[in-house]
Amino acid sequence: MPRPRKPSFLVTLLALTVLVGCAAPRDDAAEAEWDYATHGPATWGDLDPAYVLAKIGGSQSPIDIATGDVIGADLPPLRIETHLVPAHLLNNGHTVEAIAPGGAVLGFGDHAYELRQLHFHAPSEHTVDGEHAELELHFVHADGQGHLAVVAVLFVEGENERAGLESLLAVELVGHPDDELVAEFLPVDVSQLLPESLDYYTYDGSLTTPPASEGVRWFVLAQPLHLTREQIERIDSVYYSNNRPVQPLNARFVLTRR
Ligand SMILES: [Zn+2]
Repeated sequence: MPRPRKPSFLVTLLALTVLVGCAAPRDDAAEAEWDYATHGPATWGDLDPAYVLAKIGGSQSPIDIATGDVIGADLPPLRIETHLVPAHLLNNGHTVEAIAPGGAVLGFGDHAYELRQLHFHAPSEHTVDGEHAELELHFVHADGQGHLAVVAVLFVEGENERAGLESLLAVELVGHPDDELVAEFLPVDVSQLLPESLDYYTYDGSLTTPPASEGVRWFVLAQPLHLTREQIERIDSVYYSNNRPVQPLNARFVLTRR
């Protein structure tokens, strides 16, 4: 459930990226405002004709991953072919995106996707056997034809073994007005935001924010990363809960690499 809170002035990249939602780069100036409160997920499909899939779509995200129902299949491994990405941080007044202008390549079989942006949801959007993680990081990729692939990393409480999250948390956005580029070419080490194992659950879904476009390939990594209680509390003190509830699986299957 949304837990609206006033963002403190101690606004961090993470605090704002949780508001980004799982959206591809877009021009939404003419589209209806949406949020996780008054104009929350249950209303999205009625807010704007462009958002209708949020109401009538049959392949929506996120979903619950019932591990007992996951089907093993002959699938290629995921390959992360670039690690250090220069990212632009943009505070657009609604959110902050870490935009990666090319460079990081996700390989899947003979398919190559390029990283476009990354952002967080808290708590997680996907659930595993009905359980939310504390945080979910989305790496939004697109191929040359504009097909989207999102790699989702779940974070649960524990000993923090990767520096990537802390480095993002450390970026202060205090005092930056709307539409201001906060940081240019901030080096983001993708490998510090990914678990050792890139084993995944995969299914065909959608963006988890308006316009909820379908045809998005999802890779939810099976191995979670950890964040400390202190990091959770820091995030909690500034974000508005921004997870869309899980959606019906319908006729889809969740596959994993055999
Ligand atoms: Zn997302």
